[in-house]
Amino acid sequence: MYILGIESSCDDTSAAVLNDNILLSNVTASQDVHREYGGVVPELASRAHQQNIVPVVDAALKRAGITKEQLSAVAFTRGPGLMGSLLVGVSFTKGFARSLGIPMIDVNHLQGHVLAHFIKEKPEDTTPPFPFLCLLVSGGNSQIVKVNAYNDMEVLGQTIDDAAGEAIDKCSKVMGLGYPGGPIIDRLARQGNPLAYKFSEPHIPGLDYSFSGLKTSFLYSLRKWVQDDPDFIEHHKNDLAASLEHTIVNILMKKLRLAVKQTGIKHVAVAGGVSANNGLRNAFHDHAKRFGWTIYIPKFSYTTDNAAMIGITGYYKYLDKDFCSIDKPAFSKVTFK
Ligand code: ATP
Ligand code: FE
Repeated sequence: MYILGIESSCDDTSAAVLNDNILLSNVTASQDVHREYGGVVPELASRAHQQNIVPVVDAALKRAGITKEQLSAVAFTRGPGLMGSLLVGVSFTKGFARSLGIPMIDVNHLQGHVLAHFIKEKPEDTTPPFPFLCLLVSGGNSQIVKVNAYNDMEVLGQTIDDAAGEAIDKCSKVMGLGYPGGPIIDRLARQGNPLAYKFSEPHIPGLDYSFSGLKTSFLYSLRKWVQDDPDFIEHHKNDLAASLEHTIVNILMKKLRLAVKQTGIKHVAVAGGVSANNGLRNAFHDHAKRFGWTIYIPKFSYTTDNAAMIGITGYYKYLDKDFCSIDKPAFSKVTFK
């Protein structure tokens, strides 16, 4: 069975083709237009999706070596995300699926990030056993999710303000490093001292996260240092990046350890754009050694937004015959289901 996946929730237009749970193609057009603005400009994002969607879908089908008539269903991101961006993928899917007379499957983008762990390139690729915990860290979300089954997930904790990726991007912006900040901070951090500077860590109960205090602490400290030395950032950017990354990873892992303790589940995965971060990946390996966790770290290409994760979620919803009617609209707000 061939399934087409479509992702357009933010600034990546992506299409993927799967044969059951085996990925055949995954084509993504990233939008460089936002770089000069230091963040995603929603209107520009939807215009770029309009331009990209047809060529990206064509390329995905071509790379998979199939025609659109061979598809059994189209899975698409219905939300959450930017409304104007979602509308392009949702409207395209409705027209495309209707014209082919095949079902549509609506996918929650966050569920897609988590189920990226089930994308297989070869039948023998291993996947996590249920239940497992997943740290979902992306541009808009930071959550600890208990994954009971493909279509059964519970959010055990989540950020009460900013997401981890958002905090990294904002701190990178105040350092004048460019957008998106995550990969830049990651690169600089590899050459810096993680203990050079200390930034504030939140003290909130339970499994929830908070990153706005850290962001403010970073901004105020930086302002003071730059006042004393205008070249401060240039001279210390590696140490600043390493210390920022170290603080964020500490915050993330502390609550994750608590979640493991509370649930007794030692199969622990990480997903979302921030899971590309090398400091976070190292912390996972370290925890596996220290605490006997079995860890699941996605391939880099499945961390940030991609349609393969939408296609695999679509595949498991297809098996449940969980289809979407044509009247369902896109949704922008964060919900898990
Ligand atoms: P959401 O999935 O919550 O709707 P999103 O789709 O915008 O948000 P993703 O594409 O999953 O988020 O992730 C993007 C985020 O990942 C950005 O904040 C980016 O800076 C961050 N990121 C990407 N690569 C790295 C990296 N190597 N280190 C740290 N952060 C990274
Ligand atoms: Fe995402």
